[in-house]
Amino acid sequence: MKPIEHKTDSITTGLHRMPWTQSDNGFTWLEPTRKCNMACEYCYQRNDHASEKPLEVIEKELKAMLRLRTCDTMLIAGGEPLTHPDIVKITKLVKSLGPKPVILTNGQALTPELVTKLKSAGVFGFVFHVDTHQGRPGWEEKTEKELNQLRQSLADMIYDAKGLICAFNTTILPETLHEVADIVKWTTDNLHKVSTNVLIPVRSAHPEDPWEYYAGSEKITIDQTPYVSKQCYRNLTALDICKEIWSVHPDYRFHSYLGGTILPDSPKWLFGTHIGSRKKLFGNLGPKSVELIQSVYHLVAGKFLSFPSPRINRKARLLFAFGLIDRSIRVAWKNRFLSLLRNPLTLFEKISLQNIIVMQPHDYLPNGEQDECDGCPNKTYWNGRLVSECRKEDYLLYGRPLATFRKKSC
Ligand code: SF4
Repeated sequence: MKPIEHKTDSITTGLHRMPWTQSDNGFTWLEPTRKCNMACEYCYQRNDHASEKPLEVIEKELKAMLRLRTCDTMLIAGGEPLTHPDIVKITKLVKSLGPKPVILTNGQALTPELVTKLKSAGVFGFVFHVDTHQGRPGWEEKTEKELNQLRQSLADMIYDAKGLICAFNTTILPETLHEVADIVKWTTDNLHKVSTNVLIPVRSAHPEDPWEYYAGSEKITIDQTPYVSKQCYRNLTALDICKEIWSVHPDYRFHSYLGGTILPDSPKWLFGTHIGSRKKLFGNLGPKSVELIQSVYHLVAGKFLSFPSPRINRKARLLFAFGLIDRSIRVAWKNRFLSLLRNPLTLFEKISLQNIIVMQPHDYLPNGEQDECDGCPNKTYWNGRLVSECRKEDYLLYGRPLATFRKKSC
């Protein structure tokens, strides 16, 4: 991995810092298994077929995580959670303990029948991980644009089940960066079906990287790290992805962010939400609205909001009232008003919200320090503690996160 050069004209300036912390967050990550039915080229986990946890262990971990962290959504992830034979019971268990159960899946094993069963068990929705480097049977040589067909069938399946949220995670590689525009266009065309798309630049380790790896005082080789990849990927930044989004929606704006554990203004997570109808986008939620929504939700529900329900999402027109405190909403309000003047028949069309989120995971700074997400939503259970999902293999293999130092020759 090449060191990133950190820019001072940060993209996070003026955004609301999402108030998520280690102990109080929108999300937590449950890992019922680390087994998977696919093999994504860049996956940072070992596909461990012996890792399936029995229900009693899952319940213990869940309770321990909920003692350590207040959260709105429990992501039931993995590995591939749908390979777990007790996935319906797990979903019911999560629901019974309070958080919204959301299943993070590659979608390969999902059928309309299973969606119905999971809905009866209380599932709140699905986040689908779909992109071109997953070795997905039947989709191996497809482009991101062609994969929109698969995204569409998954989104339709969830929409038909009614009342569930449908979101996507998309890993972006340097060779697919130019296809971000196609992914974003498809996402906004499905504003009424897709609540969120999270665009995540790939991270992996390669022998040409300028780092030496240490587990405590023991030096290890790159092959002993869980992240080693045959490919040497250029580390994309959040800004690289934002530029592609702006090529489609020049007016798209982010409202909040999570910074880095070392660089507080690093755009680790950039959250943006646009408001629109099926045919037209009117504008964005601004930082003030999000600050108010998070604060009021926390006051009333005792936790920070993660995913709003589809019912709330489709009542987005109520948010126009936030124009009193939020300039971005006033712009959206004006655009909506102008479109009504042009076509009054659009008065009754549904107005929805949709999030496009950009991440910049795990950066190596020039001195070898590692900048991670401050307020990481994806914390999971390990040995009585919460650890970031992207570092869990370090803990499983070495009992601690790997340290990196710049090679003397570099
Ligand atoms: S620290 Fe790692 S697991 Fe946590 S949000 Fe960032 S990339 Fe994801």
